[in-house]
Parts: sequence; C-alpha cells; structure tokens
Amino acid sequence: MNIILLGAPGSGKGTQAEKLAKYFDIPHISTGDILRNSTDPRIQNILSEGKFVSDDEMIELVKKRLAKEKNGFILDGFPRTIAQADAIKSYPSKVLYFKIDDELVKNRLSLRRTCNSCKAIYHLENKPPLHESKCDLCGGILTQRQDDKDVVIAERLRIYHEKTAPLIAYYAKEGSLVEIPSDGTPEETFKKILARFGL
Ligand code: AMP
Repeated sequence: MNIILLGAPGSGKGTQAEKLAKYFDIPHISTGDILRNSTDPRIQNILSEGKFVSDDEMIELVKKRLAKEKNGFILDGFPRTIAQADAIKSYPSKVLYFKIDDELVKNRLSLRRTCNSCKAIYHLENKPPLHESKCDLCGGILTQRQDDKDVVIAERLRIYHEKTAPLIAYYAKEGSLVEIPSDGTPEETFKKILARFGL
C-alpha cells in the first residue's frame, strides 16, 4: 500500500505517519527529516527560511528512495508541488489530506518540540513531555525546529497555500483524495483514518 500525506505544515502529517507506519508495517519516508539530516549548508539555509528545495533535487531524491520500496510506503512532505506529484504518478497511492485552519497550525507549530534523537513529536500544552526538555521515549533532548519560529511559520504557510494546496484539487480529480479533519487529538485523527480504510 502506498500512502501520501498531504496538508499544511502542522496538520499532523508526521504524527500520523508514525502511527500508520507502525500499524501497516511500511516505511515512513519524511522528506523534511531527510533534508534536516543533510550536512549541506545550502539546504539548511533553505529550510531555516521556510522555502522549498528545488523540484529537480527533491524528485531525484524521492525517486531513488522509492525505487527501494517493494511493499509500499508512507510519504510525508512529498509531493509539495504539481511537478513533484507528476513525477510519482507511476506509484498508485491513496492520498490523505489533513484539513485544518491556519490559526490552529500556528498554535501547533509554535508549541511543537521534537526529540533530537528519535524524532518523537510533543506539544507543550496538548502532549507535554513528562520531564521538561527530555523525550519520554528515549531520554533525548527536545528542541524547537528552526523553522517553527513565528516568522518562518508565516512564510511556510504562504508557500503552502501557493504551491501545495493546488494538489488537493489535483488528487481529487484523480479520485485518490481522502479528506480527514485534522483538528482533533492525534488519537482521534488516527481513528478517522482507520475508519476511512474500513478498519
Ligand atoms: P517538513 O518536515 O515536511 O515540514 O519539511 C521541512 C522543510 O523541508 C520544508 O519547509 C522545506 O523547506 C523542505 N522540504 C521538505 N519536503 C520538501 C519538498 N517535497 N519539496 C521542497 N522542499 C521540501
């Protein structure tokens, strides 16, 4: 099974991808995580400003990665443009679109903290860690992503609406779009997804 997660930054893609990967036992491929691990200062600069890495680079990276997957995948953060979507047309996929208001996104992102080590995601109000700044799961250090600062959040949302939101109509037309309201808790959202899979 191939699953593509579509939605604004902070709509829950990463959190739901982790749950889905466990449930279906297929790999979670996060282009954001791959890029954050890059040591190229040019890439880090693009990320810290909330801009997009070029389509050519992203398409090459993802195509190489998908060629290794024979039993399906969960794509989180790709495609983000029509050109990227066109590039993976040969992989029939279900597209889960996480619908959420910008205001909620801003709240979620500014209070989001991520484990440096295992990448677990926390929210200071809704899902606080047991010990401040420490991951419940692995004891790693929790930090705020560079691009979860307020100015960068605004830029990421602007680019999302300009370049990524058109993919909603693109996949709806193709008949592969499944809309999931994503304003509840992670557990509520996960239940809605399973229900849409008939599970
Ligand atoms: P994410 O973790 O998915 O929010 O991605 C973090 C950042 O990585 C984005 O704000 C972009 O700068 C970059 N990025 C991730 N995926 C893509 C993509 N498919 N196309 C272009 N840039 C991307």
